[in-house]
Amino acid sequence: MEPKQAHPDTVIAQALGWIDEATRAITPPVHVSSTYLRDPDNQYRSGRVYARADNPAFDQAEAVIKALEGGHQALLFASGMAAATAVFQALAPGDHVLAPRVMYWSLRNWLMGFATQWGLDVELVEMESPEAVQAALRPGRTKLVWVETPANPLWTVTDIAATAQAAHAAGALLAVDSTVATPLLTRPLALGADLVMHAATKYLNGHSDLIAGALVTRADNEHWQRVRRVRAQLGGTLGSFEAWLLLRGLRTLHLRVRAACASAQAIAEHFETHPLVTAVLYPGLAASPGHAVARAQMQGGFGGMLSVRVYGGEAAAIAVAAQTRIWKRATSLGGVESLVEHRASVEGAGTPAPADLLRLSVGVEHVADLIADLEQALVAAHAGG
Ligand SMILES: *Cc1c(COP(=O)(O)O)cnc(C)c1O
Repeated sequence: MEPKQAHPDTVIAQALGWIDEATRAITPPVHVSSTYLRDPDNQYRSGRVYARADNPAFDQAEAVIKALEGGHQALLFASGMAAATAVFQALAPGDHVLAPRVMYWSLRNWLMGFATQWGLDVELVEMESPEAVQAALRPGRTKLVWVETPANPLWTVTDIAATAQAAHAAGALLAVDSTVATPLLTRPLALGADLVMHAATKYLNGHSDLIAGALVTRADNEHWQRVRRVRAQLGGTLGSFEAWLLLRGLRTLHLRVRAACASAQAIAEHFETHPLVTAVLYPGLAASPGHAVARAQMQGGFGGMLSVRVYGGEAAAIAVAAQTRIWKRATSLGGVESLVEHRASVEGAGTPAPADLLRLSVGVEHVADLIADLEQALVAAHAGG
């Protein structure tokens, strides 16, 4: 069997089994050249010209991500935001786009602050409601529907297949921010999406030591060609060392994601009935409004992200975060270390996050330690300690 036909675990562990032609090294070199030699007859037969447009350091990570998503082509970007904004920058002024009310906060800020100034007609909808999406679509005018599932920070779930069908019927593309689901739990392109975006900063790299983004397309088309030009011309290009680190982190994706999912499920179930917790938001709980759709479109787990609402309101939530020892108070997600964050403080006015909500990114520590640490923090915070 060839590595690229193997189980995703094998594809990931071996990064498609590539061997460096020149040295027989089993890990790739770090390609740092910013420019490439032109042929004497003035051609560029290598296809490489200048590293703002393209870089051999990207090839292997892009090939792995493309293989995992089952796409036509993948592109790395300097950040998740550079990848996401490229999708919108490739549209034209006057284009109508739908984005979720519950979504990654920085992207919504950019959409409402910058994209609208540049003439995009951005409309926020309850993306998890097929009726709301259907009502908001304007056939012929809506060019893109942006979905995030499960979505920050409430972990609402959107039915990708149904939304793709509705978007396509209106003549729009469907793009999915699949950062939290990872390519292992959900494959949006197989469900009908046209584009998948990852903040590779998060699970794909998994070690909280770089910022990177990725896009994968199902097909080559005019919009994708414009996305390629956005990366090459605006220069949201990943650095060579970051690309190399990303490939190293990527090789354990399956192990990290599996561990995080199992622990997140256990933590959600443990705190669901806890007297100091008023609600646990996690699509893996049978009582979660998104559970049925999540069960249908996620395989192998419901992700490593959940939120808890703390009895006693905002002050109590902040006090709990202050009392954790193992959970680290920090933004971001998808790393090997577990993080806790009072999300409303980060997002500010207009956030859909209730003031008593703590967002948890579950890492790969022992789950009993994670549960015990949250337990003691809840008790200590409520004792005023
Ligand atoms: C972090 C994140 C982003 C942005 O990625 P950066 O690499 O920080 O620019 C986008 N979407 C989601 C869901 C994220 O968690």
